[in-house]
Amino acid sequence: MTIPVSCEFFPPRTDKGMEKLKQIHDKLKQALNPEYFSVTFGAGGSTQEKTFETVNHIQQAGSEAAPHLSCIASTKDNIRELLQNYKDSGISRIVALRGDKPSGWLGSIGEFSYANELVTFIREETGDHFHLEVAAYPEFHPQSKSAATEFKYFQQKVEAGANAAITQYFYNVDSYFQFMDECQKRGIDIPVVPGIMPISNFEQLVRFSDTCGADIPRWLRWKLDGFQDDGDSLQEFAADFIAQMCERLIQGGAPSLHFYTLNKANLTLNIARNIGLTQ
Ligand code: FAD
Repeated sequence: MTIPVSCEFFPPRTDKGMEKLKQIHDKLKQALNPEYFSVTFGAGGSTQEKTFETVNHIQQAGSEAAPHLSCIASTKDNIRELLQNYKDSGISRIVALRGDKPSGWLGSIGEFSYANELVTFIREETGDHFHLEVAAYPEFHPQSKSAATEFKYFQQKVEAGANAAITQYFYNVDSYFQFMDECQKRGIDIPVVPGIMPISNFEQLVRFSDTCGADIPRWLRWKLDGFQDDGDSLQEFAADFIAQMCERLIQGGAPSLHFYTLNKANLTLNIARNIGLTQ
């Protein structure tokens, strides 16, 4: 099987972590030749400098890098400056997000309320310089009010100038196909790339999924829980299950796959091997 892929990192906190990430990047690049590597942005811009540093390392290592940029609790001046810095560093791709307020945040929400306003601002400031990805939620965002408004707001991001979308991770493949059907009905025709989350630790996955609104099907929860302390068997089972999910997505027309790597090469490579994307 063949399909383009992209990979996501979070910015390491230490120099040692950055050195390790460079090796992970090299391993993934060699095995999968991803279209680009994206780098997350901490809530409220808390990793702004580390995100910048990480994308620069990725560019220097010969890959295209796409910083995530969230706008909540930020100002137009701050975003303008970041966009200029990215342009000066040769970056031409951004994952544009609203983001979430950092926990305990008491300050103002800033000059942007939603991601569509950020997309509009980036287009106003930089024209077509950046290829813009936005977030999509096949299982709905935790703050969604209704299915209809969710699509209305998604459409606003597309009309503001998004080129493509990456989904929140999901383990119900039908939610992706349902999302794509709704897009088609509304004439939304940008590529919507499934976000693929490997599973390495059951408790972590449950905690994170509860926060971001991703559903872990009941059968899968029981199955994963059953591995108890046997992490190797859990990872082996999960890589196999997620590979089958990817195969269905590819057969169903997914334009590419975006791997949430968790800054570990093997979690992604084990899935990729099972689909025949690498040896
Ligand atoms: P929006 O598209 O603005 O939507 C947020 C909520 O507001 C939704 O419920 C939507 O229905 C609603 N809404 C949108 N527009 C309006 C409107 N005009 N009026 C009323 N309601 C509206 N977070 C980070 O902090 N850093 C990251 O690097 C990061 N990377 C991510 C990458 C991907 C691929 C995904 C899927 C998520 C990522 N997130 C990241 C999480 C994301 O920031 C959160 O899910 C956040 O709560 C929403 O961001 P958004 O861009 O989807 O917001």
